[in-house]
Amino acid sequence: MLDEKTEALRDKVRHFIDTVAIPLEQPALEKDVAALDVACGQLRAQARAAGIYGPQLPREWGGLGLNWSECAVIFEEAGRGMLGPLALNCAPPDQPNMLTLLHLGTEAQKQAYLGPLTRGEKRACFAMTEPAPGAGSDPNMLQTQATRDKNGWRVNGHKKFISGGIAADFAIFPARTDEGVTLFIVPTNTPGYRVTRDIATVTGYQIGGHAEILLENCHIPDDAVLGEIGMGMKHIQLRLEPARLSHCMRFIGRARRALEIAQDYVQTRDAFGSRLSDLQQIQAMIADSHIDLHASRLMVRECATLMDRAVSVKNESAMTKIFVSEAVGRVADRCVQMMGALGVSDDTVVSCIWREARPFRIYDGANELHRAFLAKRILR
Ligand SMILES: Cc1cc2nc3c(=O)[nH]c(=O)nc-3n(C[C@H](O)[C@H](O)[C@H](O)COP(=O)(O)OP(=O)(O)OC[C@H]3O[C@@H](n4cnc5c(N)ncnc54)[C@H](O)[C@@H]3O)c2cc1C
Repeated sequence: MLDEKTEALRDKVRHFIDTVAIPLEQPALEKDVAALDVACGQLRAQARAAGIYGPQLPREWGGLGLNWSECAVIFEEAGRGMLGPLALNCAPPDQPNMLTLLHLGTEAQKQAYLGPLTRGEKRACFAMTEPAPGAGSDPNMLQTQATRDKNGWRVNGHKKFISGGIAADFAIFPARTDEGVTLFIVPTNTPGYRVTRDIATVTGYQIGGHAEILLENCHIPDDAVLGEIGMGMKHIQLRLEPARLSHCMRFIGRARRALEIAQDYVQTRDAFGSRLSDLQQIQAMIADSHIDLHASRLMVRECATLMDRAVSVKNESAMTKIFVSEAVGRVADRCVQMMGALGVSDDTVVSCIWREARPFRIYDGANELHRAFLAKRILR
């Protein structure tokens, strides 16, 4: 049961997504990183005017100050629109970037980096993954190195698949130091920081694409350290749990949207003298999809409630990420199947949702990794 305030906000966001954000969606935007930036700017102004901007942001940073349980409801609604999370400024990677800065930033870093992110004036990326033999599933394989230099640090490294990295204003990344892994924050116009390409992936609507980045003798000052020196791995963990849960929230909305479109299709399309929706195999796909979404929602909301009580959700967030990423994939896949050729075409967003769901089993920790650690913790 939702309280009245959350229900009213949910309705407002739903109305905004249906009437403002969805009409702006178009296949041309899906892979156009620059056009997405422009559309996003327009939508944010409208979201602000509608009083729905920054649901997760504290009020002093211009947001609505919602807790995780409330965010679960609002992020799902925003996620129904391909541009919804961007419009509300609760899309990755900046939603977890803002969280990281809120928790770890000094006052000066908050003013310089967090403020512009909350106002939607700048974009950032979080650059962890590296090509082999660097960090992928195993963060302990991190190769990027930061060595002490005059007045700061000299960084060398190679990063890959960095969401939002194209035309980002600054990057947050971990690097090895003598004291252990340390998080750094660096403007992307720093000499030695170079984006080498936008890596094409199956995903769409990713503001800033997926960048490959080289750090070559990149000199950064002492105040580029984010959080404590040597505590980078601990800081990253702090980011990852809420980040993956937020992904689950938005993806439930995405899958719900695909299901709405598929349901409309089967209720208007006939085959062999029957309406598709009258066929039992179609009905089973619809029922199974609602079961998947209902179970996903319950898992996410329980996890969110625990996070609001500051209870550790190590196991719960792993189980939720595994289940939801696979469930939304099943839902999107059934939607494609129910819609025949239209389902794999770009005439609706269903094909994009189906493609977007697939990588979710890989990022935020591959599901195999979560299963392995979950089982180890349980057996211990
Ligand atoms: C769309 C997208 C966006 C991304 N955005 C970012 C970003 O913004 N920033 C960033 O730093 N990274 C990002 N990544 C990278 C992502 O974090 C990595 O892909 C992920 O950590 C896995 O690393 P890898 O790709 O190197 O896979 P590898 O480490 O090479 O693993 C390959 C496969 O091996 C299997 N595997 C791994 N470990 C185990 C295990 N213990 N047990 C069993 N099987 C295992 C899994 O099936 C895994 O998929 C993104 C990736 C994608 C696809």
